[in-house]
Amino acid sequence: MNLNPAQAYEKFFEGNERFISGKLSHPRQDVEHRTEIAEGQTPFAALFGCSDSRLSAEIIFDVGLGDLFVVRNAGQVIAETILGSLEYSVEVLKVPLIVILGHDGCGAIQATIASSEGTLVTQGEFIQNLVLRIEPTVQAAREAGTDSIDEITALHIKATVQELISRSTLIDSAVRSGKLAVVGATYQLALGKVTPLVTIGNVN
Ligand SMILES: [Zn+2]
Repeated sequence: MNLNPAQAYEKFFEGNERFISGKLSHPRQDVEHRTEIAEGQTPFAALFGCSDSRLSAEIIFDVGLGDLFVVRNAGQVIAETILGSLEYSVEVLKVPLIVILGHDGCGAIQATIASSEGTLVTQGEFIQNLVLRIEPTVQAAREAGTDSIDEITALHIKATVQELISRSTLIDSAVRSGKLAVVGATYQLALGKVTPLVTIGNVN
């Protein structure tokens, strides 16, 4: 497909517009296309988002098979395997755009707030691991005088973008060379709307 970051950004948000309005085109989901791309993938973007069942990537961006390289975990928390997957999408698949997607009403953020208030009821050792990784953002928000879940979610998305850029030299240099843009965005469950919060690299 070989789009530049600006073209990929446009395509991404055009798809979300169709989803918001309910005028979906369900592109590239037919048998013919499935057979055609079996030989190899050329996705136009990578998405790192929350695992929430209401955040189905291909549906909310009205795209099809082979369009998005998707990585998700609860609360979109950076980990080495996530960095590896995203580096793969840039180095090998040459995606021009990475979108980091959080959303309102996120259970992982709610769990972290509950944990910081001492009211978290989940026991899973590895759930605690997710919570611990979001906790610094909740702490920073509190120090800045807010405990609004929407503001904490926005801060966490921005922190995730920063962490991606600062930990991956490969991704940082792809952005610097103009081959890649990274967008942090939030999704409103009821509206189906994706709103960009922070952009690194040129998408205009
Ligand atoms: Zn979530």
